[in-house]
Amino acid sequence: MRIILLGAPGAGKGTVAKLLEEFDGSVQISTGDILRSAVKEETTLGKKAKDYMDRGDLVPDSLIMEIMEARLKEPDCQKGFILDGFPRTIAQAEELKKLLGRLGVSLDFVANLEVPREIILERLTTRRTCCNPSCQAIYNLKNNPPRQDGTCLLCDHETIQRDDETVEAINNRLEIYNQKTAPLIGYYEKEGLLKNFLSLVADDTVSEIKKAISA
Ligand code: ADP
Ligand code: ZN
Repeated sequence: MRIILLGAPGAGKGTVAKLLEEFDGSVQISTGDILRSAVKEETTLGKKAKDYMDRGDLVPDSLIMEIMEARLKEPDCQKGFILDGFPRTIAQAEELKKLLGRLGVSLDFVANLEVPREIILERLTTRRTCCNPSCQAIYNLKNNPPRQDGTCLLCDHETIQRDDETVEAINNRLEIYNQKTAPLIGYYEKEGLLKNFLSLVADDTVSEIKKAISA
């Protein structure tokens, strides 16, 4: 499949993407995961991105497009891809359209994950992420906790609360989502690519998306 997952921070894009990967071998491409690994490894890209990320601000479009162009050209993307956290702005969406044109591939659809704001806030403050860059498993203290000592069930590394999951950074991320990313819903509706999914339980959302792909 070739899809974009759209939705506010905390809408469950990462969880849904990981489940969809298992379905048909399409690869999850999360710009957030790529950026966090780069920050951790202190690469040139990471150094450029870190301050924006800690504040919960968007990283400049030019940097993101450089990352995505390189990523989408890697051979594993031929089986399909699930874009998670990209595009985040109209400018990125327009650049993506050109890039996909150059690569000669088209999207199946854009899945917009809809979740009420109270649920989003609760999910974000109880979220924990595995600190191992090659794992990055996502947990939730309430309904999907890591081990009691805080370690990851998959790889035994510590799980942590991300720097951008403080209350101030979360509010900033939601504000930026409303200003910069929510307009993509209208954009993709006009392109005839939008499908809406109520996203309360990840497994249900995944079944609905699989149905839409097979249809
Ligand atoms: P979220 O849980 O907010 O969806 P992500 O893991 O997708 O978080 O992204 C974390 C941070 O990485 C964002 O707050 C932003 O600073 C940066 N980032 C990720 N993807 C993009 C993008 N497509 N454009 C600009 N910045 C991005
Ligand atoms: Zn882990």
